[in-house]
Amino acid sequence: MFDVFRERRRQGKRTIGYPAEAPTLPDRYRGLPVLDDSRCPDGCKSCVESCPTDAIGRDSRGLALDMGRCLFCTDCLEACPEGAIRFTHDYRMATRNRSDLVVRSGVELALAEPLDARMRKLFGRSLKLRQVSAGGDNAEESDLNVLGTIVFDIGRFGIQFVASPRHADGLVITGPVAENMKSALLDAYESVPSPKLVIVVGASAISGGPFRGHPEVSDGTDRLLPIDLYIPGFPPHPMTILDGLLRLLGRLEGMPERIRAEEPPAPPPASGPDPLAPIVASTATVEGPPTSS
Ligand code: SF4
Repeated sequence: MFDVFRERRRQGKRTIGYPAEAPTLPDRYRGLPVLDDSRCPDGCKSCVESCPTDAIGRDSRGLALDMGRCLFCTDCLEACPEGAIRFTHDYRMATRNRSDLVVRSGVELALAEPLDARMRKLFGRSLKLRQVSAGGDNAEESDLNVLGTIVFDIGRFGIQFVASPRHADGLVITGPVAENMKSALLDAYESVPSPKLVIVVGASAISGGPFRGHPEVSDGTDRLLPIDLYIPGFPPHPMTILDGLLRLLGRLEGMPERIRAEEPPAPPPASGPDPLAPIVASTATVEGPPTSS
C-alpha cells in the first residue's frame, strides 16, 4: 500500500496544464498549414500535382489548401522547392463551417465560435458524447481514447464519452461513413435526444479523405447530417480535438491563446523551378449543411 503512495508521489501530477499553459508538442508535429502565395512562380502546380487527395489547388483568389481533405502527409512540401507551404505547430484548427477549413495565403483561419447561449447553458459544463466509428481505421478513435487518459483528462472539463446514444448530448463521428455503416449512424443520430450536437473528427469523416470518390463512402458526413464542429487532421492530434471541443463550449473565451512560441522557420526560396501550366481550382465544393438542431 505504501509503495503505491510512494510511487504516486514520485510521479507527481501528470495532467497537462492546458488551457492555462501551452501544450508541449513533438518537433515533428504538423499543425495548421500556412501558405505564402508570393513564393509561387507563375503557373507552377507542383504542389497540386503531388497531393493525393486534391486538397490543394489554385483559383481566382490564389493558392488554397482544404484542411478537410488534407492528410498532413507533407508530399506538397517536398514538391514545392519555393517553400510556399509549411506546417506550423499551431494545433488550433477546428471550425464551425466546412468552408472555413480552406486555408489561404494571408487569411486568418476562422476558428470555431462557441455555441449560442441556450446550447451553452445546456452543454457548457456537462457534455456527454457517443462516439460512432463509421468505417474508421482506429486512428481518430485512438486519439479520442487518449483524451480520457490522465495526461489530457477530458473529464475535468465535464466532457465524457458514453455507451449509448440515448444517454448522449451528441455524436462524435469518425471514418468515411462506409455504406454498411450509414444506416447505423443515422439510427444513432435519431436516438440522441434533441437538442443535439454532431462533431466530425478527421479528414475521412469530413470529406471521405483518401477514400473520397469511392462508391462505398459518403464523401463527407455533412451530406447526411448537420455538423456543429469540424476537427481536421489525419488523424487530428488530441490537442486539436480538445481545443475544438472547448472552443465549441465557450470554455476558452477570455483566456489567452496558448500555443508554442517556436515555429519551424519557413525554408528559403529556391531559384528557377519550371513554370507550369495554370492550375485549376481543386478545393472542395461544400454543400450547405442541413439546419443544425
Ligand atoms: S499535406 Fe495535405 S495538401 Fe499537402 S500533399 Fe499531403 S494531403 Fe495534399
